[in-house]
Amino acid sequence: MKILVINSGSSSIKFQLLDMVDESVLASGLVERIGETEGLVKCTFRPGGEDELVVKKTTTVPDHKSGMQIAVELLSDPRQGVIVNRSDIYAVGHRVVHGGEDFHKPTLISGDVLAAIEKNIPLAPLHNPANLDGIRVAQELFAGVPQVAIFDTAFHQTIPPHAYHYAIPYELYEQQRVRRYGFHGTSHKFVASECAGLIGKPLAELNLISIHLGNGCSMTAIKNGESVDTTLGLTPLEGLVMGTRSGDVDPAIHAFLARNCNMDIDAINEMLNKESGLKGLCGLNDMRDIHDAIASGNKRAKLALDVQTYRNKKYVGAFMAVLGRVDAIIFTAGIGENDAVVREMTLRGLEPFGIAMDLEVNNQRIKKPTLLSTPESRVQIWGIPTNEELAIAREAKAVLGK
Ligand code: AMP
Repeated sequence: MKILVINSGSSSIKFQLLDMVDESVLASGLVERIGETEGLVKCTFRPGGEDELVVKKTTTVPDHKSGMQIAVELLSDPRQGVIVNRSDIYAVGHRVVHGGEDFHKPTLISGDVLAAIEKNIPLAPLHNPANLDGIRVAQELFAGVPQVAIFDTAFHQTIPPHAYHYAIPYELYEQQRVRRYGFHGTSHKFVASECAGLIGKPLAELNLISIHLGNGCSMTAIKNGESVDTTLGLTPLEGLVMGTRSGDVDPAIHAFLARNCNMDIDAINEMLNKESGLKGLCGLNDMRDIHDAIASGNKRAKLALDVQTYRNKKYVGAFMAVLGRVDAIIFTAGIGENDAVVREMTLRGLEPFGIAMDLEVNNQRIKKPTLLSTPESRVQIWGIPTNEELAIAREAKAVLGK
């Protein structure tokens, strides 16, 4: 049972082909720099296997349609044998960033679903159009194959009104749907389910704090298996300090910058999304570079690390208050899985709250689910690698009743 997963961004398409009989990855790839003079295509067949094969090429990729065509052509190479016939594909699972209030769960794509994704474009103007392109091209290339949309926002649709409302005029919610939505839902749900399996209890009986720290960062409070609060908001900007995104700022910063720095709203938005976060504080947005810079005495790099981990800790405290009882804290994504220092600084000093990390065990890159807390810790601490592609394929399979 082969499921193709498509994650279509504004200038790239990530794809993965999985055999869902044993959840093995048959091929995984990326088409980048769509629309630029030269596009980059990379596909790894049977990643990690003895017969792994990496195919790379540069070619013009004028638009998403040609990007998808190139990906499907690569996957259909008869020498690789991963797609022999297009009808081999049981389903295509699409990551869709913003489902607004229309989608609470993964959904089989129909004309109405496409219209609803389109309606939500104002909430994610960069992402939803690219996601729609990916879906439309896949519908053409795989005519008759079921297409399933998996929304980043869906897992958070259980957040109650007192947590998702901003305290601004209510009409803005009624007329423009301005509220907190949350993102990274597929990742939070995936690691929470994995954690339940590891603890050996049903997810519905667990209270968890899931911390996704990658280029984008977010934290979710999960009560009895459901998201009840999360740090990202109307757009993926609120909350934690990210690679280039500021996270929380005083909303009056817009007026201040407009009046004092002659910046217009687009420039401020661009600055908060692309020039802020770790990069804004020290000029570097990759945590590996930040550690190197700290080692050579760069004070601003140290400040960036301190600001990010302090914000993390502050939200851990907030979500402990939201949940009351916390069974486990989970770290995931690029920084969460690989950076022992960030994990340690995030939870440092929380021992009085029953959170005690085993610093020796923590001192590693997490390649498989690993318990990072001491046996005495009341709250378990887990490092769990996220796998959004597998999560999307599982969801697509479940929607189709398999
Ligand atoms: P993601 O968005 O989940 O792919 O995470 C990407 C980010 O993870 C990068 O920008 C780095 O900051 C971080 N990262 C990746 N590998 C490492 C590592 N070995 N140590 C520290 N941070 C890492």
